[in-house]
Amino acid sequence: MECERAGGLLSGLVDNALRPLARFRVSRHVAGCHDCAAKLEELRAMQAAIRTKLPYHRAPPGLAARIGAALPREAPPPAARPWFRMPEFSLAGTGLAGALAGVALTALVIGGQSDPTMAVIGSHIRSMQAEHLTDVATSDQHTVKPWLSARLDVSPPVRDLKEAGFPLVGGRLDYVEGHPAAAVVYRRAKHVINLFAWAAAGKTDETFRTERRQGFNIVTWRHDGITYYAVSDVEADQLAEFAKLVAQGG
Ligand SMILES: [Zn+2]
Repeated sequence: MECERAGGLLSGLVDNALRPLARFRVSRHVAGCHDCAAKLEELRAMQAAIRTKLPYHRAPPGLAARIGAALPREAPPPAARPWFRMPEFSLAGTGLAGALAGVALTALVIGGQSDPTMAVIGSHIRSMQAEHLTDVATSDQHTVKPWLSARLDVSPPVRDLKEAGFPLVGGRLDYVEGHPAAAVVYRRAKHVINLFAWAAAGKTDETFRTERRQGFNIVTWRHDGITYYAVSDVEADQLAEFAKLVAQGG
């Protein structure tokens, strides 16, 4: 093992977060390398200082949501592998590394890397906070639909639901779990409804499933190779009615 590789694993060694083989190899390297042994000592001293001298504070409420909102809209390139996903690390480790991994994992979940429901909630919140609700703002379904179709590999139904109390606001190009998604935006009184749709080629249809999380109602279904997520803070029964209306349009 070379210094560069060992250096990247030293913090894992200190936090007891390495798998046995990696721990053995780093330890063996450190035993024969003055530089890395010195770095390890520094890290141990720092860890001790952190444990004994620093006050601990609970994260303020809403921090996780703000991290989610601040995350880039695009997915990271596939090559970027966070250190805690490296095979040398095990998440069983305690201490700083474990705590950091926990924070990073929470951020990833909120950012939408592993949970589509949380991902669409994150996009829904961002769309309102960043005042980037629509890329194409029009109540004309015949403008929104071709605009989305030209930019995506799916062509979700865009309906004029004004009569039913869900006026169309516009459309937006979004990202959910690293893939492009259509966001068709409707309103119900003062509430925003984001209808996300993305390609699910070859997957079987699924009927409506409703969920409530983080104060939002979600209705999801899959039809004709497209996965749909409707997200809003409108009442659950209204969102269910909205979903049925959209699905009827085909
Ligand atoms: Zn070394």
